[in-house]
Amino acid sequence: MRIYNTRSRMVEDFVPHEEGKVSIYTCGPTVYHFAHIGNLRSYICEDVLVKTLRYTGYKVKRVMNITDVGHLTSDADTGEDKMLKGAKREHTTVLKIAERYTNAFFEDFYALNMAAPDVVEPATHCIPEFIHMIEVLIEKGYAYRAGENIYFDTSKLENYYVLSNGIKEDDLMVGVRDDVDEDSNKRNKGDFVLWFTKSKFDDQELKWESPWGTGYPGWHIECSCIGIKHLGEYMDIHCGGVDNIFPHHTNEIAQSEAFLGHPWCRYWFHVHHLVEKSGKMSKSSGNFLTVSTLKEKGYDPVVYRFFCLQSHYRKPLEFSYDVLDNMTAAFDKLIKRISALKPEGKKDDAVFEEYRNRFAEALTDDLNTSMALTVVYDVLKADTDDATKYALIESFDEVLSLDLLAKASWLNEGTSEDEETIRFVEEKIEERKQAKKEKDFAKADAIRDELLAKGIVLEDTREGVKWHRV
Ligand code: AMP
Ligand code: ZN
Repeated sequence: MRIYNTRSRMVEDFVPHEEGKVSIYTCGPTVYHFAHIGNLRSYICEDVLVKTLRYTGYKVKRVMNITDVGHLTSDADTGEDKMLKGAKREHTTVLKIAERYTNAFFEDFYALNMAAPDVVEPATHCIPEFIHMIEVLIEKGYAYRAGENIYFDTSKLENYYVLSNGIKEDDLMVGVRDDVDEDSNKRNKGDFVLWFTKSKFDDQELKWESPWGTGYPGWHIECSCIGIKHLGEYMDIHCGGVDNIFPHHTNEIAQSEAFLGHPWCRYWFHVHHLVEKSGKMSKSSGNFLTVSTLKEKGYDPVVYRFFCLQSHYRKPLEFSYDVLDNMTAAFDKLIKRISALKPEGKKDDAVFEEYRNRFAEALTDDLNTSMALTVVYDVLKADTDDATKYALIESFDEVLSLDLLAKASWLNEGTSEDEETIRFVEEKIEERKQAKKEKDFAKADAIRDELLAKGIVLEDTREGVKWHRV
């Protein structure tokens, strides 16, 4: 596997810390609003990365946090807590907001056929661990108390800006931008808050006792702490969108390496943004597109995944409905071609291996998803029997996760169901698949019963789950 590493700014051979195993961490959503389709682009690319690693034989453990406290509206440790802002907007509590948008996030996540992370941990569940890490950082001389907060002293590290190419302290706009208050307690402009007790945030709903007074954590500490808690002292890959490079990931490296006393994560994987003609899609602007918007407009969420796979994760991707219409047409055509395959018969193992290798080669070349899709079309054109093509498409879909065979078989069955029912049942099937993966069989059975109550029967077959009316 070759992969671009933001830390070295080079495409590198991937060598995990422990042979055959990969530990991978993803910065999860800040659950104060719906995830937009830009956020979901990052998660789709990360999902393809995880599935590629598994496809090529690695045993992968993936951990994701949920940011439900401490992320302020400005990355410069100022402004309002985003969660509190969300609670005020919807006249409810921070905990309710966190629950509502965590559920909404995973609903979108599964509608886009993403595999559940092995561990999902909300920041508010780890406060004692954060406090411990901050105590160690103070003891080791990397953190200090000033005014009412605890800060990380960035001058104690030789190479604080290791990840953020070209950013220098003077370029940081902290204290010079009109809308950002200068924090006179900081020793250096780049220092960041590990623990807040500032009276300014007295309306903060979530507060905890700490050795430094009642307060709450800064944003960055959660990912260092949750990462080390579940993946140990050496992490192989850390993921996020490019906006996370600075300050979030830069600060994570500072905290983790200061705490551990040795290098922490080797590969930094960053996905470029989904943009619109008007610019980057952003949650804080409040004006953004969600998976629900796409569904309401009649688009299949899986077509959005297909669209994301067409471009390289290291390039910005421009979204427009025109492009999504073209993608829908291209996807329907692809499904139609697959539906014409007759899967019976014996597959040709040599041809199977040849195309499987070509597919894996594309993905292991810094995740060349558009080339991987080309291999799908090459298979359909190949001079071999249908059984081999069918087996290859089934195998590729372990990574692509576009429901290629299931959709082709529905097309063959000529279902007369309306779009909304099809989508509803597909989502339920996906939820059930995830529940089974997580060994939550009670949930999987409950989903089957829920559908049965609506007159829909699920059938587990070799080609995947099929459904029909009672
Ligand atoms: P947030 O919920 O704001 O913490 O962001 C969740 C993830 O989405 C992070 O990895 C961000 O870097 C990423 N992200 C934010 N905006 C975009 C965008 N327009 N395109 C792709 N990824 C994004
Ligand atoms: Zn993070």
